Parts: sequence; C-alpha cells; structure tokens
Amino acid sequence: MLVPLFAPVADSEGPPLVFLVRGSDVVLAEGDPSDWGPGLFVGTLDGRHCWAIDANTPGAEAFDADRSVNLMQLFGRVDEATWVAAGRAVQLVEWDRNHRFCGRCSTPTDPSETERSRRCPACGLAAFPRLAPAVITLIERDDGRVLLARNAAWPTAMYSCLAGFVEPGESVESATRREVLEEVGIEIGSLRYFGSQPWPFPHSLMLGFHAAYLSGEVAVDGVEISDARWFGRDELPEVPGPISIARQLIDDWRAR
Ligand SMILES: [Zn+2]
Repeated sequence: MLVPLFAPVADSEGPPLVFLVRGSDVVLAEGDPSDWGPGLFVGTLDGRHCWAIDANTPGAEAFDADRSVNLMQLFGRVDEATWVAAGRAVQLVEWDRNHRFCGRCSTPTDPSETERSRRCPACGLAAFPRLAPAVITLIERDDGRVLLARNAAWPTAMYSCLAGFVEPGESVESATRREVLEEVGIEIGSLRYFGSQPWPFPHSLMLGFHAAYLSGEVAVDGVEISDARWFGRDELPEVPGPISIARQLIDDWRAR
C-alpha cells in the first residue's frame, strides 16, 4: 500500500525505490536517490521509501529512454500500489516543473520545507499540487440495460461510461447530471457512489457513480460523443481495459 508523505518519518524498509520521470515516461530504479539528483519524496510503499526524480534535471542522465515505460503501459506490469506510486511521482514532478515561477508575478518560487507547496517570495502566492476532480457514471435502465457511449476521438469502436470534469461551484452530483444531459440529452434519477480512482493523465481524480435512468431520449452531440446506446449484459461492445474505473463500474453491474 502507498502512504503518500511529504518527507520520511522512519527509515526505509529496504532499498529506496526511485522513479525517474520524464513527461509521463518512468524508469524504475533502486538505490540512493541522491545519486540521481534532488528528489521529491513520494511516500512509502509497504514501508519502503519512494522518490521521484525529474529526469530533465542535470545529474539524472541515468534516465534510460530504452528502459522507460509510459505510465499507461506500466499498468499490469507492476503491482497496483507501485503503479499508483508511479502516478504520484509523475504528478509531483510535473507540478514541481510547472510552478518554478509565480503564476501571478513571475518571480522564481521556493519549495516549502514543511509541506508540498512552492511559494513566491515576492507576493506570497503558494502553489500546491493540483487535482482535477472528474465524474464518471454508468446509467442503468429499468430493463437492466446500461448506456455506453463512444467518444469521437477514440481510435477503436470502444464504448464506455460518460465522464466529465467538475466545474468550479459545482457538486459532484450536479456535475454528473449536467454532463449526462449535455452529452446524451437524458435526465438521471438517483445516484449511488461507487468509488474513486487517481487518474494521473495528467492530474485527475475520478469519482465513479451508478445512476438510474429517469427520462429523455438518447441524443448525442456528434462532436465529443459519436454514438451512445443501451446495452444488455450479453451484447456488450468493446469496453475499456481493467486499468480504468469505467471498467470496474461495468464489471460491477455485469456481476449483479
Ligand atoms: Zn508572486
């Protein structure tokens, strides 16, 4: 299990795990993180220290592009806790790189010594790692069928749950209702929280819901969503892989 931490609170149980990060590509290594340069502490994985190193910085030449794996492809090649730690490492490095200068007055920022933030010495603006909450929902009709939609940008004929970002000022419940109405033109009734998943592409937190169909005819916008249909358990199209909470929502419904 990953325990996210700002700084170590105990000795590492075993050699530290080091994530060398360049973009969303990662090299997993073991050893003293200072061999690679200044690191960001990720937390502990079963007591073992985890560090993130920005492989764009001098001293991180050990980043071996041939050994690097994109975070998306890393899923399934390491255990899930290690994958979550790698996702956190990627997000911390990206956040640190993107906030070296104050967004308000452009002065170089300083990393805090007590918390995960970068502060502007001139105007005091603090930047914290950003999370973008997004909702994802599987809508079920009285006859047991569920609504799955095909995103126009996907290269294959894959169908999935409806999803979208939470807007400022919105609750996750109202965001779910708004997204469904915008994307497929239907209204949903009761919502049941299913679970959440960190989604480090680039910094989302997915909040999953089962929803009950209420009213309206399916009408897609044709731009973001190219098709949406009701599917029964024995006629499912291609659906997302097990990496995603979309698949977990679908599997949960299918198992009922
Ligand atoms: Zn400033």
